[in-house]
This record gives sequence, C-alpha cells and structure tokens, in this order.
Amino acid sequence: MANSNDFNPADNIQDLQYFGEFGGVNPSISDSSTYTFLSAKTMFDTFEGDAEGCYLYSRHSSPSNLYLGEALAAMEGTETANVAATGMGAIVPALLQLCCAGDHIVSSRTIYGGTYAFLKNFAPKLNINTAFVDITDIDKVEAAITKNTKVIFCETVSNPLLEVADIAELSKLAKKHGVKLLVDNTFSPLSVSPAKFGADVVLHSLTKFINGSSDTMGGVMCGTQEFIDELRNVNDGASMLMGASMDSMRAASILKNLRTLHIRVKQHSKNAMYLAEKFQNDGLKTVYPGLASHPSHEKFKKMMNAEYGYGGMLTVDVGNLDKANELMELMQERNLGYLAVSLGFYKTLFSAPGTSTSSEIPEEEQAEMGLTDGLIRFSIGLDNNIERTYKMMRECMLKVGVL
Ligand SMILES: *Cc1c(COP(=O)(O)O)cnc(C)c1O
Repeated sequence: MANSNDFNPADNIQDLQYFGEFGGVNPSISDSSTYTFLSAKTMFDTFEGDAEGCYLYSRHSSPSNLYLGEALAAMEGTETANVAATGMGAIVPALLQLCCAGDHIVSSRTIYGGTYAFLKNFAPKLNINTAFVDITDIDKVEAAITKNTKVIFCETVSNPLLEVADIAELSKLAKKHGVKLLVDNTFSPLSVSPAKFGADVVLHSLTKFINGSSDTMGGVMCGTQEFIDELRNVNDGASMLMGASMDSMRAASILKNLRTLHIRVKQHSKNAMYLAEKFQNDGLKTVYPGLASHPSHEKFKKMMNAEYGYGGMLTVDVGNLDKANELMELMQERNLGYLAVSLGFYKTLFSAPGTSTSSEIPEEEQAEMGLTDGLIRFSIGLDNNIERTYKMMRECMLKVGVL
C-alpha cells in the first residue's frame, strides 16, 4: 500500500469503473460455464496459466467473479482476490493451500463455529493439527508456535465473544516465525483493514454484511497475486480443485450490494453504538467494541477506519438460556428482529450462540472461554429510528424480567 494514511476502503471501491458490453453502467454478467478459444494454442497456454485475460471454465474464474474479486481486493488493499461460493469455501481452501499433512496451525479459540469444527474435527484427519489459544495474549500465541506451524488464524473481531485481535502484533510474530497470518474480517468490513497491519490473507464470508441482504452465500480470500494464482492453479490449486466456486450471477448481484456497504456499515455501527450504551446504562452485561468498558476498545480504536464505526455486532448476557430464549421470542413477536443465525441483515438478527452457531464447541470449552448460555448475540439492523427500537426492546426486557 503506497500511503496507508490515504487508504479508504469505500473510496477504493467507488473509484472502480466497469462498463457492460453495450455501455451498460453495470458490467455484463458472464452467463457461461465455458469459453471458446480462437486457437488451440491459446487453450493450451491457458491451462498452463500463461494466457493473460483468457477464460477457460467458470470453476477457474469468470469475468463476473473477477470484477467482484477486484472490488474486494480494492476494499481490503490487497493485490488481488478470489471469490468463493461460501465463506467456508474461502477459508478451507486458503488453509489447505498453505498446510500439508504434518503441518500445524495456531488459531484463536473464539472463532466462527464452522471454522472451529473444521480445524478441530476435520483437519486432523489430514494430519493437520491446531492449537487453540487466547488470541489477545500474544505470549500464549507465540508459545503455541512449533517448528511445523504454517499459519496463525484469527478473526479481527471474534465470533461470538467480540474479542479483538491485534493484527499488527500478530503480523510481527508471524513474520518472526516465517508463518502466514490469515484474518477472517467478516465482522468488521470497512471498519478494519487487516492487510494494512500486515495480514497476509484477509478472508470474508460475503453472506453477512458485505452482501447484506441474507439472500445468498459467498466468500472471498484477498491476498497476493502469487497466492491467488496458486489457489486457482489447475493442477494443485485448492480453490480450483475443491470446487467451491461462486456462480457468476451471484457475483454480479453481490457486486451491486457491495456499493452500498459503506452506508450500511455506518448505520449498523451507529445503531449498535446507541443500543450498547443504553443496554450498558440499564445494567445489562453488554459487550461492544465501541464501549470504553470493552477490554480491547483502545486496540480497536487504534486499528479502525474511524468513519465506519465499531460495527453492528454486540452481545448481551441475560443470565441463563431460558431468559435468553424468552426474550428473543418476544422480540421476534414484536417484530424487533428475527431469531436467526447469520448477520449483516437490514433487520436485527439474534441468537444464543452457545446452543446455535457455537454449539460445535464442547460445553466445557465454552465455559473456559467465557461463552455463557445466557449470551445473546445481536446483529443490529438498519433501523431508521433506533430510539424507538430501544424503547420497544426495553419493554420486552422488562416483561421477561432481565431488567
Ligand atoms: C458466517 C461466517 C463464516 C462462514 O461463512 P459461510 O458464508 O456461512 O460459509 C466464517 N466466518 C465468520 C466470522 C462468519 O460469521
């Protein structure tokens, strides 16, 4: 990155310009799974990876997927990017491209349930083993690194505990030990730009804030041209061979939604900040990186692109699962949001992670990391009048007796 002070992820997206085939203001959608070649020689070269600008087969790449990938690379400030059918379809190939049998990963212990389950239960079948650590304790992270370690994996803001990783510190550590730092930035698009602080690969589930309309799945890995080329290699590229490629139609629709991400993120952040302050003042155990009471508030503040705020995710601990369930059902009944997993929707979404998205994590480990069963994870929506929402939520909380 030339000058990181000038770096603004939304401006970088805005500056891109792609016209459609007939001068359309949106790029044409490549509605094809396969592509013709004028000469047999070019087809051969494309297989060898030597034919610039030629398309072969849409599992490898397609014009629509490349447009979206380049926009996401511009957002994250990496050389390039590769989109995938889902977030897991980006995370798993990225890890497997970097790790062989016998290799080792150091991962944050508070990560998305699916990633955790992959590292804990699936990767060991390939003899890739993972040490799970408290990612906010840099000494513990370093102590877990072995001579076989290839990757440090974390989320900028962790799911569901909203712990904040110090990307610059972790990057320094990764470089010292010659390992790669992979950062899942799904919870904090625009707010934090991990590559700016030395992350080697930045991953997203596009299913969440980036697409923002809970109508599709998607994923992306943003990194160097060399790494993305390796992933797409027809002979041994994990993205190419594991097959989680995005459909071109979806790439086109996600690109259109990406253009309003900055407006949405600002509104999610504004609403979440408002509710977090209110909930905390009401005496609820509230976790939000924007609150001064958050253990990593200063760390987040130092990393953030300030105008986008602290993001849309917050948690409240209401004591026990029964109360959590009662409250969520009542809030849904009063149309304040939906009892649903996932995040980044226009409507508030809430779930109890201990029994849903993090249920892959054994109960005793949940307890150790502070994941209590009364914890409600909120993805705060784009509500136009958040004061009104707060008043109605407060009524629900009084009714079920958590206030
Ligand atoms: C949802 C999610 C994923 C997985 O993405 P999918 O699109 O569901 O495959 C990975 N990481 C985080 C932080 C997520 O929230």
